[in-house]
Amino acid sequence: MTGKTPFALEANDIHKRFGEQEVLKGVSVRAAKGDVISIIGSSGSGKSTFLRCLNFLEIPDQGRVSINGEEIGTRIRRGRTEPADRRQVERLRTGLGMVFQSFNLWAHRTVIENVIEAPVHVLGVPRAEAMERAEALLNKVGLYDKRHAYPAFLSGGQQQRAAIARALCIEPQVMLFDEPTSALDPELVGEVLKVIRDLAEEGRTMLLVTHEMRFARDVSSHVLFLHQGRVEEEGPPAQIFGQALSARCREFTGGLV
Ligand code: ADP
Ligand code: MG
Repeated sequence: MTGKTPFALEANDIHKRFGEQEVLKGVSVRAAKGDVISIIGSSGSGKSTFLRCLNFLEIPDQGRVSINGEEIGTRIRRGRTEPADRRQVERLRTGLGMVFQSFNLWAHRTVIENVIEAPVHVLGVPRAEAMERAEALLNKVGLYDKRHAYPAFLSGGQQQRAAIARALCIEPQVMLFDEPTSALDPELVGEVLKVIRDLAEEGRTMLLVTHEMRFARDVSSHVLFLHQGRVEEEGPPAQIFGQALSARCREFTGGLV
């Protein structure tokens, strides 16, 4: 380290193969603190796999991931890449808050119990402190009144806002969103995008996989367009959504702007 501020998240030359299919063919990203990076591209282009490689839900076959300047250590064993130290992965993973398309709340726990689960059981935050943090976050996402409800009694938009509060409660350095509004009825998309927009305006560092092109154009500092496991084009939203060099990218964003 040279005394410079490290990137909040940096991934270099990530490769990932499932059997015969090379799904990621050398994808890189760098997020400085406060960056909002959107990842767009057709279904099957590798967006989810890339996000999952960042928190080691998938182990990259090749390439390096660093969180706040600390690289996740790997080793090769019997021809396969694996984490050198699982505890390091668990520790670094708490720097990343992940929100999925399907909200993945625990059905048999109330909203607030869902939100305090990881801080209490993974990070060892005292319960009372976690409750206080959770109440503030639920207030922020507009769910304070629903904090004692079970997920089944919430709308999809409310469940996703609860999932965002849950991810925030571990106080991550970077938030990762994988198509957070794709499973929602159209009338519920806006309330979730508003929460994400507020986080962007607060200066949170975020990576966001989305098909909401206008939203990506409005909130992003940088956009990656993935095509068949490669970054086909990347740049500021004005380039990607207005003057993309790649014809594929222009076609994908469909004359927006
Ligand atoms: P996207 O999120 O852009 O739609 P994905 O990353 O989900 O793309 O998938 C990219 C490709 O990798 C797809 O062809 C998909 O079928 C394949 N794939 C993803 N996960 C797995 C897996 N666990 N095993 C085998 N193939 C997978
Ligand atoms: Mg996906």
